[in-house]
Amino acid sequence: MIQRIVILGAGSAGLLAACALKRKIPQLTVQVVRSPELGVIGVGEGTTPNFPRFLFEYLGLSRKKFYELAEPTWKLGIRFHWGPRDRFEYGFSLQMDSHWSDLPRPNGYYCDEEFSCAGLASALMRHDKVFPRQPNGAPDIQPWHAFHIENRKFVDVLELLARVAGVEVTDGKVTHAERGPHGIAALHLEDGQRIEGDFYVDASGFRSELLGRALEEPFLSYDRSLFCDRAVVGGWERTTEPILPYTTAETMDAGWAWQIEHEHHINRGYVYSSQALSDDEAAAEFLRKNPKAPTAPRTVKFRSGRYRRQWVDNVVAIGNAGGFVEPLEATSLMVVCAECQTLVDLLQHCALKPTDSMRRLFNRQMDYTWDDIRDFLALHYYVNTRLDTPFWRHCRADTDVSSLADLLEFYRENGPTGFARYTLPKPENNFGIEGYLVMLVANRVPYLAKHQASAAEQQAWHAHRAQFIAQAVSGLGVKEALTYVRHPAWQWNAEAPPNSVPAAGAPTR
Ligand SMILES: Cc1cc2nc3c(=O)[nH]c(=O)nc-3n(C[C@H](O)[C@H](O)[C@H](O)COP(=O)(O)OP(=O)(O)OC[C@H]3O[C@@H](n4cnc5c(N)ncnc54)[C@H](O)[C@@H]3O)c2cc1C
Repeated sequence: MIQRIVILGAGSAGLLAACALKRKIPQLTVQVVRSPELGVIGVGEGTTPNFPRFLFEYLGLSRKKFYELAEPTWKLGIRFHWGPRDRFEYGFSLQMDSHWSDLPRPNGYYCDEEFSCAGLASALMRHDKVFPRQPNGAPDIQPWHAFHIENRKFVDVLELLARVAGVEVTDGKVTHAERGPHGIAALHLEDGQRIEGDFYVDASGFRSELLGRALEEPFLSYDRSLFCDRAVVGGWERTTEPILPYTTAETMDAGWAWQIEHEHHINRGYVYSSQALSDDEAAAEFLRKNPKAPTAPRTVKFRSGRYRRQWVDNVVAIGNAGGFVEPLEATSLMVVCAECQTLVDLLQHCALKPTDSMRRLFNRQMDYTWDDIRDFLALHYYVNTRLDTPFWRHCRADTDVSSLADLLEFYRENGPTGFARYTLPKPENNFGIEGYLVMLVANRVPYLAKHQASAAEQQAWHAHRAQFIAQAVSGLGVKEALTYVRHPAWQWNAEAPPNSVPAAGAPTR
């Protein structure tokens, strides 16, 4: 029976795991070991809507306290400068997997010419607004928002919350792990300490000290589908720029660049393929397109892929230690939350005595999650016709999208219908058919079964868009919405005990 858990690593993965384990299973002893010298990765700032749901609804953290300490801003989706259109918005509310009852076809068939404002989130994004307004003027905070959050600030807040929950934090560098009959027996620190647990979480980031190094679990690379393996990163202090309620993803010569919006800081990074561009060339292109960025941006190396199993013997890897897929859809924290929740739920279910079949179930779920993200991102590269550089020609010709062959064939014959969900490796996945259809429609991937909308249909279609646009135009920008939620009189209605709020429980006034 597990009584004492040792977590290696105090980045966002290790500390989220520590908070989840200790808050949900308080009888556990949870110790985090981390090396201040190695520090944390310092990137990882875009999230998805499961992130606030995990923090507030699953863990039961106080929204008020969290907003005060971590100072997140809101993210409604990603604006892409991608493909043949000037730009498009992939928001967190439905656009393509949607069908108005007064129209004969689902939305996608009406988006050949104009693809914007087909849902509330995308309409808000198009108008740089974050939430619609309630009759009293206050923000009507929608349940499908995510956050932009500064990595180091977030890690500091998590450490505080973990300590308050009773987690012990030990500073020290692990030099090696001692093997035992059930996996790992103890961690050895540089200062001579030996730290023992009966269960270990490897949250050591890309070093994967326990799963990768000590247990030698094989790494499965995604390099046939995803060619980028580096990023140059550099941001600047915000001056007059408005705080945008979305991440921007802009096509670059050999990859893409993100723009992430913090309240006082703008974070930019260029994700590229080292096969296509040298680090110096990448930095030069990045600086040319971002003259406000620091002249010596830092380079981060990564590889996309996952370990064959995430849970081996008495070690489960969470975060970058178990797998990583490049940040185009900002999915790592999404996976971290899913990993933490699945682990805690399984440990509770088995009364802290995990079985082999439970480990296999966890691994199967996580394999599927990672492979699904790989496939979705591969599609982004495969369909992007914006630039004709060697890198992008290579992506269009050689990206392995074989898992999506059925989807692509079905789409080419039938167009953007929700039936396409049954062609996916698994119909229920993190992006739904919505995500795939957004990429196909927005990038104008051709299909045969075109629909000629009548004048009456066109009128009805634009009337629906006009409703979203009206809500967006009268909505609030990020700055104004922050002023509301920071006012001492602001009440979050979701300050309820964990698990007692409905899944879609939205903070409203
Ligand atoms: C370019 C880039 C952009 C990204 N953007 C996003 C994004 O927008 N959204 C998103 O969700 N994710 C993003 N990520 C992923 C992001 O890194 C993770 O989401 C997240 O920060 C989790 O990091 P971690 O805790 O696994 O690792 P880290 O932050 O690296 O933490 C590792 C911890 O382990 C400790 N450690 C390691 N080895 C030892 C040792 N031997 N002894 C003691 N301690 C040790 C370190 O000190 C540290 O505390 C991005 C990643 C990259 C590379």
